[in-house]
Amino acid sequence: MALHKINTKVIIIGAGPAGAGTSIYLTQAGIPHVIIEKETFPRDKVCGDACSGKTAFVLRKANPEWLKEIFASEEKFMPSHGIVFVAPNGKSLDIAYNPNRIPGEQAPGFTTPRMVFDNFLFDKLPSQHTTIFQQSAVKNIDRENDIVTVTFTKGEDTYEVTAPLIVGADGDKGIVRKSFMNDNNSAKAYAVGLRAYYTGVTGMHKENFIELHFLPEMLPGYLWIFPMPNGIVNVGVGILSERIRSKKINLREQMLHALKTNPNIKHRFKNATLLDKIQGWGLPMGMEQLPISGDNFVLTGDAASLIDPFSGEGIGNALYSGMLAAYAIEKAVRQNQYDRAFLKEQYDDVLYKRIGDELKISATLQRLCRYPWLFNFVVNKANKSPSLSKTISCMFTDLDMRDQLRKPSFYAKILLNR
Ligand SMILES: Cc1cc2nc3c(=O)[nH]c(=O)nc-3n(C[C@H](O)[C@H](O)[C@H](O)COP(=O)(O)OP(=O)(O)OC[C@H]3O[C@@H](n4cnc5c(N)ncnc54)[C@H](O)[C@@H]3O)c2cc1C
Repeated sequence: MALHKINTKVIIIGAGPAGAGTSIYLTQAGIPHVIIEKETFPRDKVCGDACSGKTAFVLRKANPEWLKEIFASEEKFMPSHGIVFVAPNGKSLDIAYNPNRIPGEQAPGFTTPRMVFDNFLFDKLPSQHTTIFQQSAVKNIDRENDIVTVTFTKGEDTYEVTAPLIVGADGDKGIVRKSFMNDNNSAKAYAVGLRAYYTGVTGMHKENFIELHFLPEMLPGYLWIFPMPNGIVNVGVGILSERIRSKKINLREQMLHALKTNPNIKHRFKNATLLDKIQGWGLPMGMEQLPISGDNFVLTGDAASLIDPFSGEGIGNALYSGMLAAYAIEKAVRQNQYDRAFLKEQYDDVLYKRIGDELKISATLQRLCRYPWLFNFVVNKANKSPSLSKTISCMFTDLDMRDQLRKPSFYAKILLNR
């Protein structure tokens, strides 16, 4: 049994989208770093498997060829052009991400199993600046004299890695957050989700729109049905843990009950086959703007609670926060400055300036979902009004438009047909 000592500039714990995003952009800046991951890739992650325009944006910025690679592999990645919203009253509304799409234009997003997507990213990591350890669970992190030390064992050997900065990209309930911060996730900002893979589901949208069913018993959460490559469908539910606790909900039973009895859904699952066991995982959501860095550390992705509170989307924000963390780290390394104030200014403030409004709007929308009648009202009206339907479409790309949803005047205008 040998002890290996490694000194580097940055240690990243976790090689999911947040860790991969950080590493890809650190490599572009030429900064040496060590990634430590407890699993071996390809590895699964419980998820709805829907990747949005933000995911596409970060990938395109890193290397435009990667998106071409993605859209060229139809057997692994399914282009995604829109969403079907199903209101609590069962009425549905089809919303194209881009209502003016030209045929053949690249889709804004895609669906793909995380087993495939995370491995796609992982394959992009090797570089002269990157040292990767897999099958290496970090159980201990120390910080002394502004140096972070991570110790782990791999096989027979022990490794001691030191650096002035550590990145927590270790997901929900990660060890970096636990080691450096009092866990300040409030129950309100937390949801639990289940994922199931099916085959043989019928009635999917002709352009493979993803479906969000806002069933009354799940509000402000929803049940999703997402088409995937090879005839597979990702089905799941996400509900606030506060609600699960207070209503003593058995999430698995509730999901299976909805698939069996909901009048809009049950006939579509008549001949469907469950392919794997139903699995659950937590969703730490960005309801509040919490500190996400401190002396000698930054948090990214789920470790920083950045999941969109309305859509449940976290892959895009994981990659995006990884990219911004790398930009901040580049400055920290150049100036040899790793203190709380510097990292807050370079990372927290920049990140919240870019995505803070979006998270705030989503937090309000999540709260509004507690009023099913409001949801029913908007969907009913949008089905009768192409211009309202188009306005809602534009809300996916235009943040100012989306902000309208928070304002009573938006609903008053719909009511008055203006
Ligand atoms: C049910 C469900 C459905 C979802 N659906 C969607 C969706 O459709 N679209 C979307 O955009 N988002 C969705 N999300 C959110 C999305 O899955 C997360 O936001 C995303 O995975 C965050 O990426 P991450 O890199 O921060 O964390 P993760 O993907 O969890 O990666 C963390 C990595 O750190 C490693 N790690 C953890 N601890 C250690 C340790 N001690 N030592 C070494 N390595 C460690 C883990 O093995 C893992 O590889 C969903 C989440 C859930 C639970």
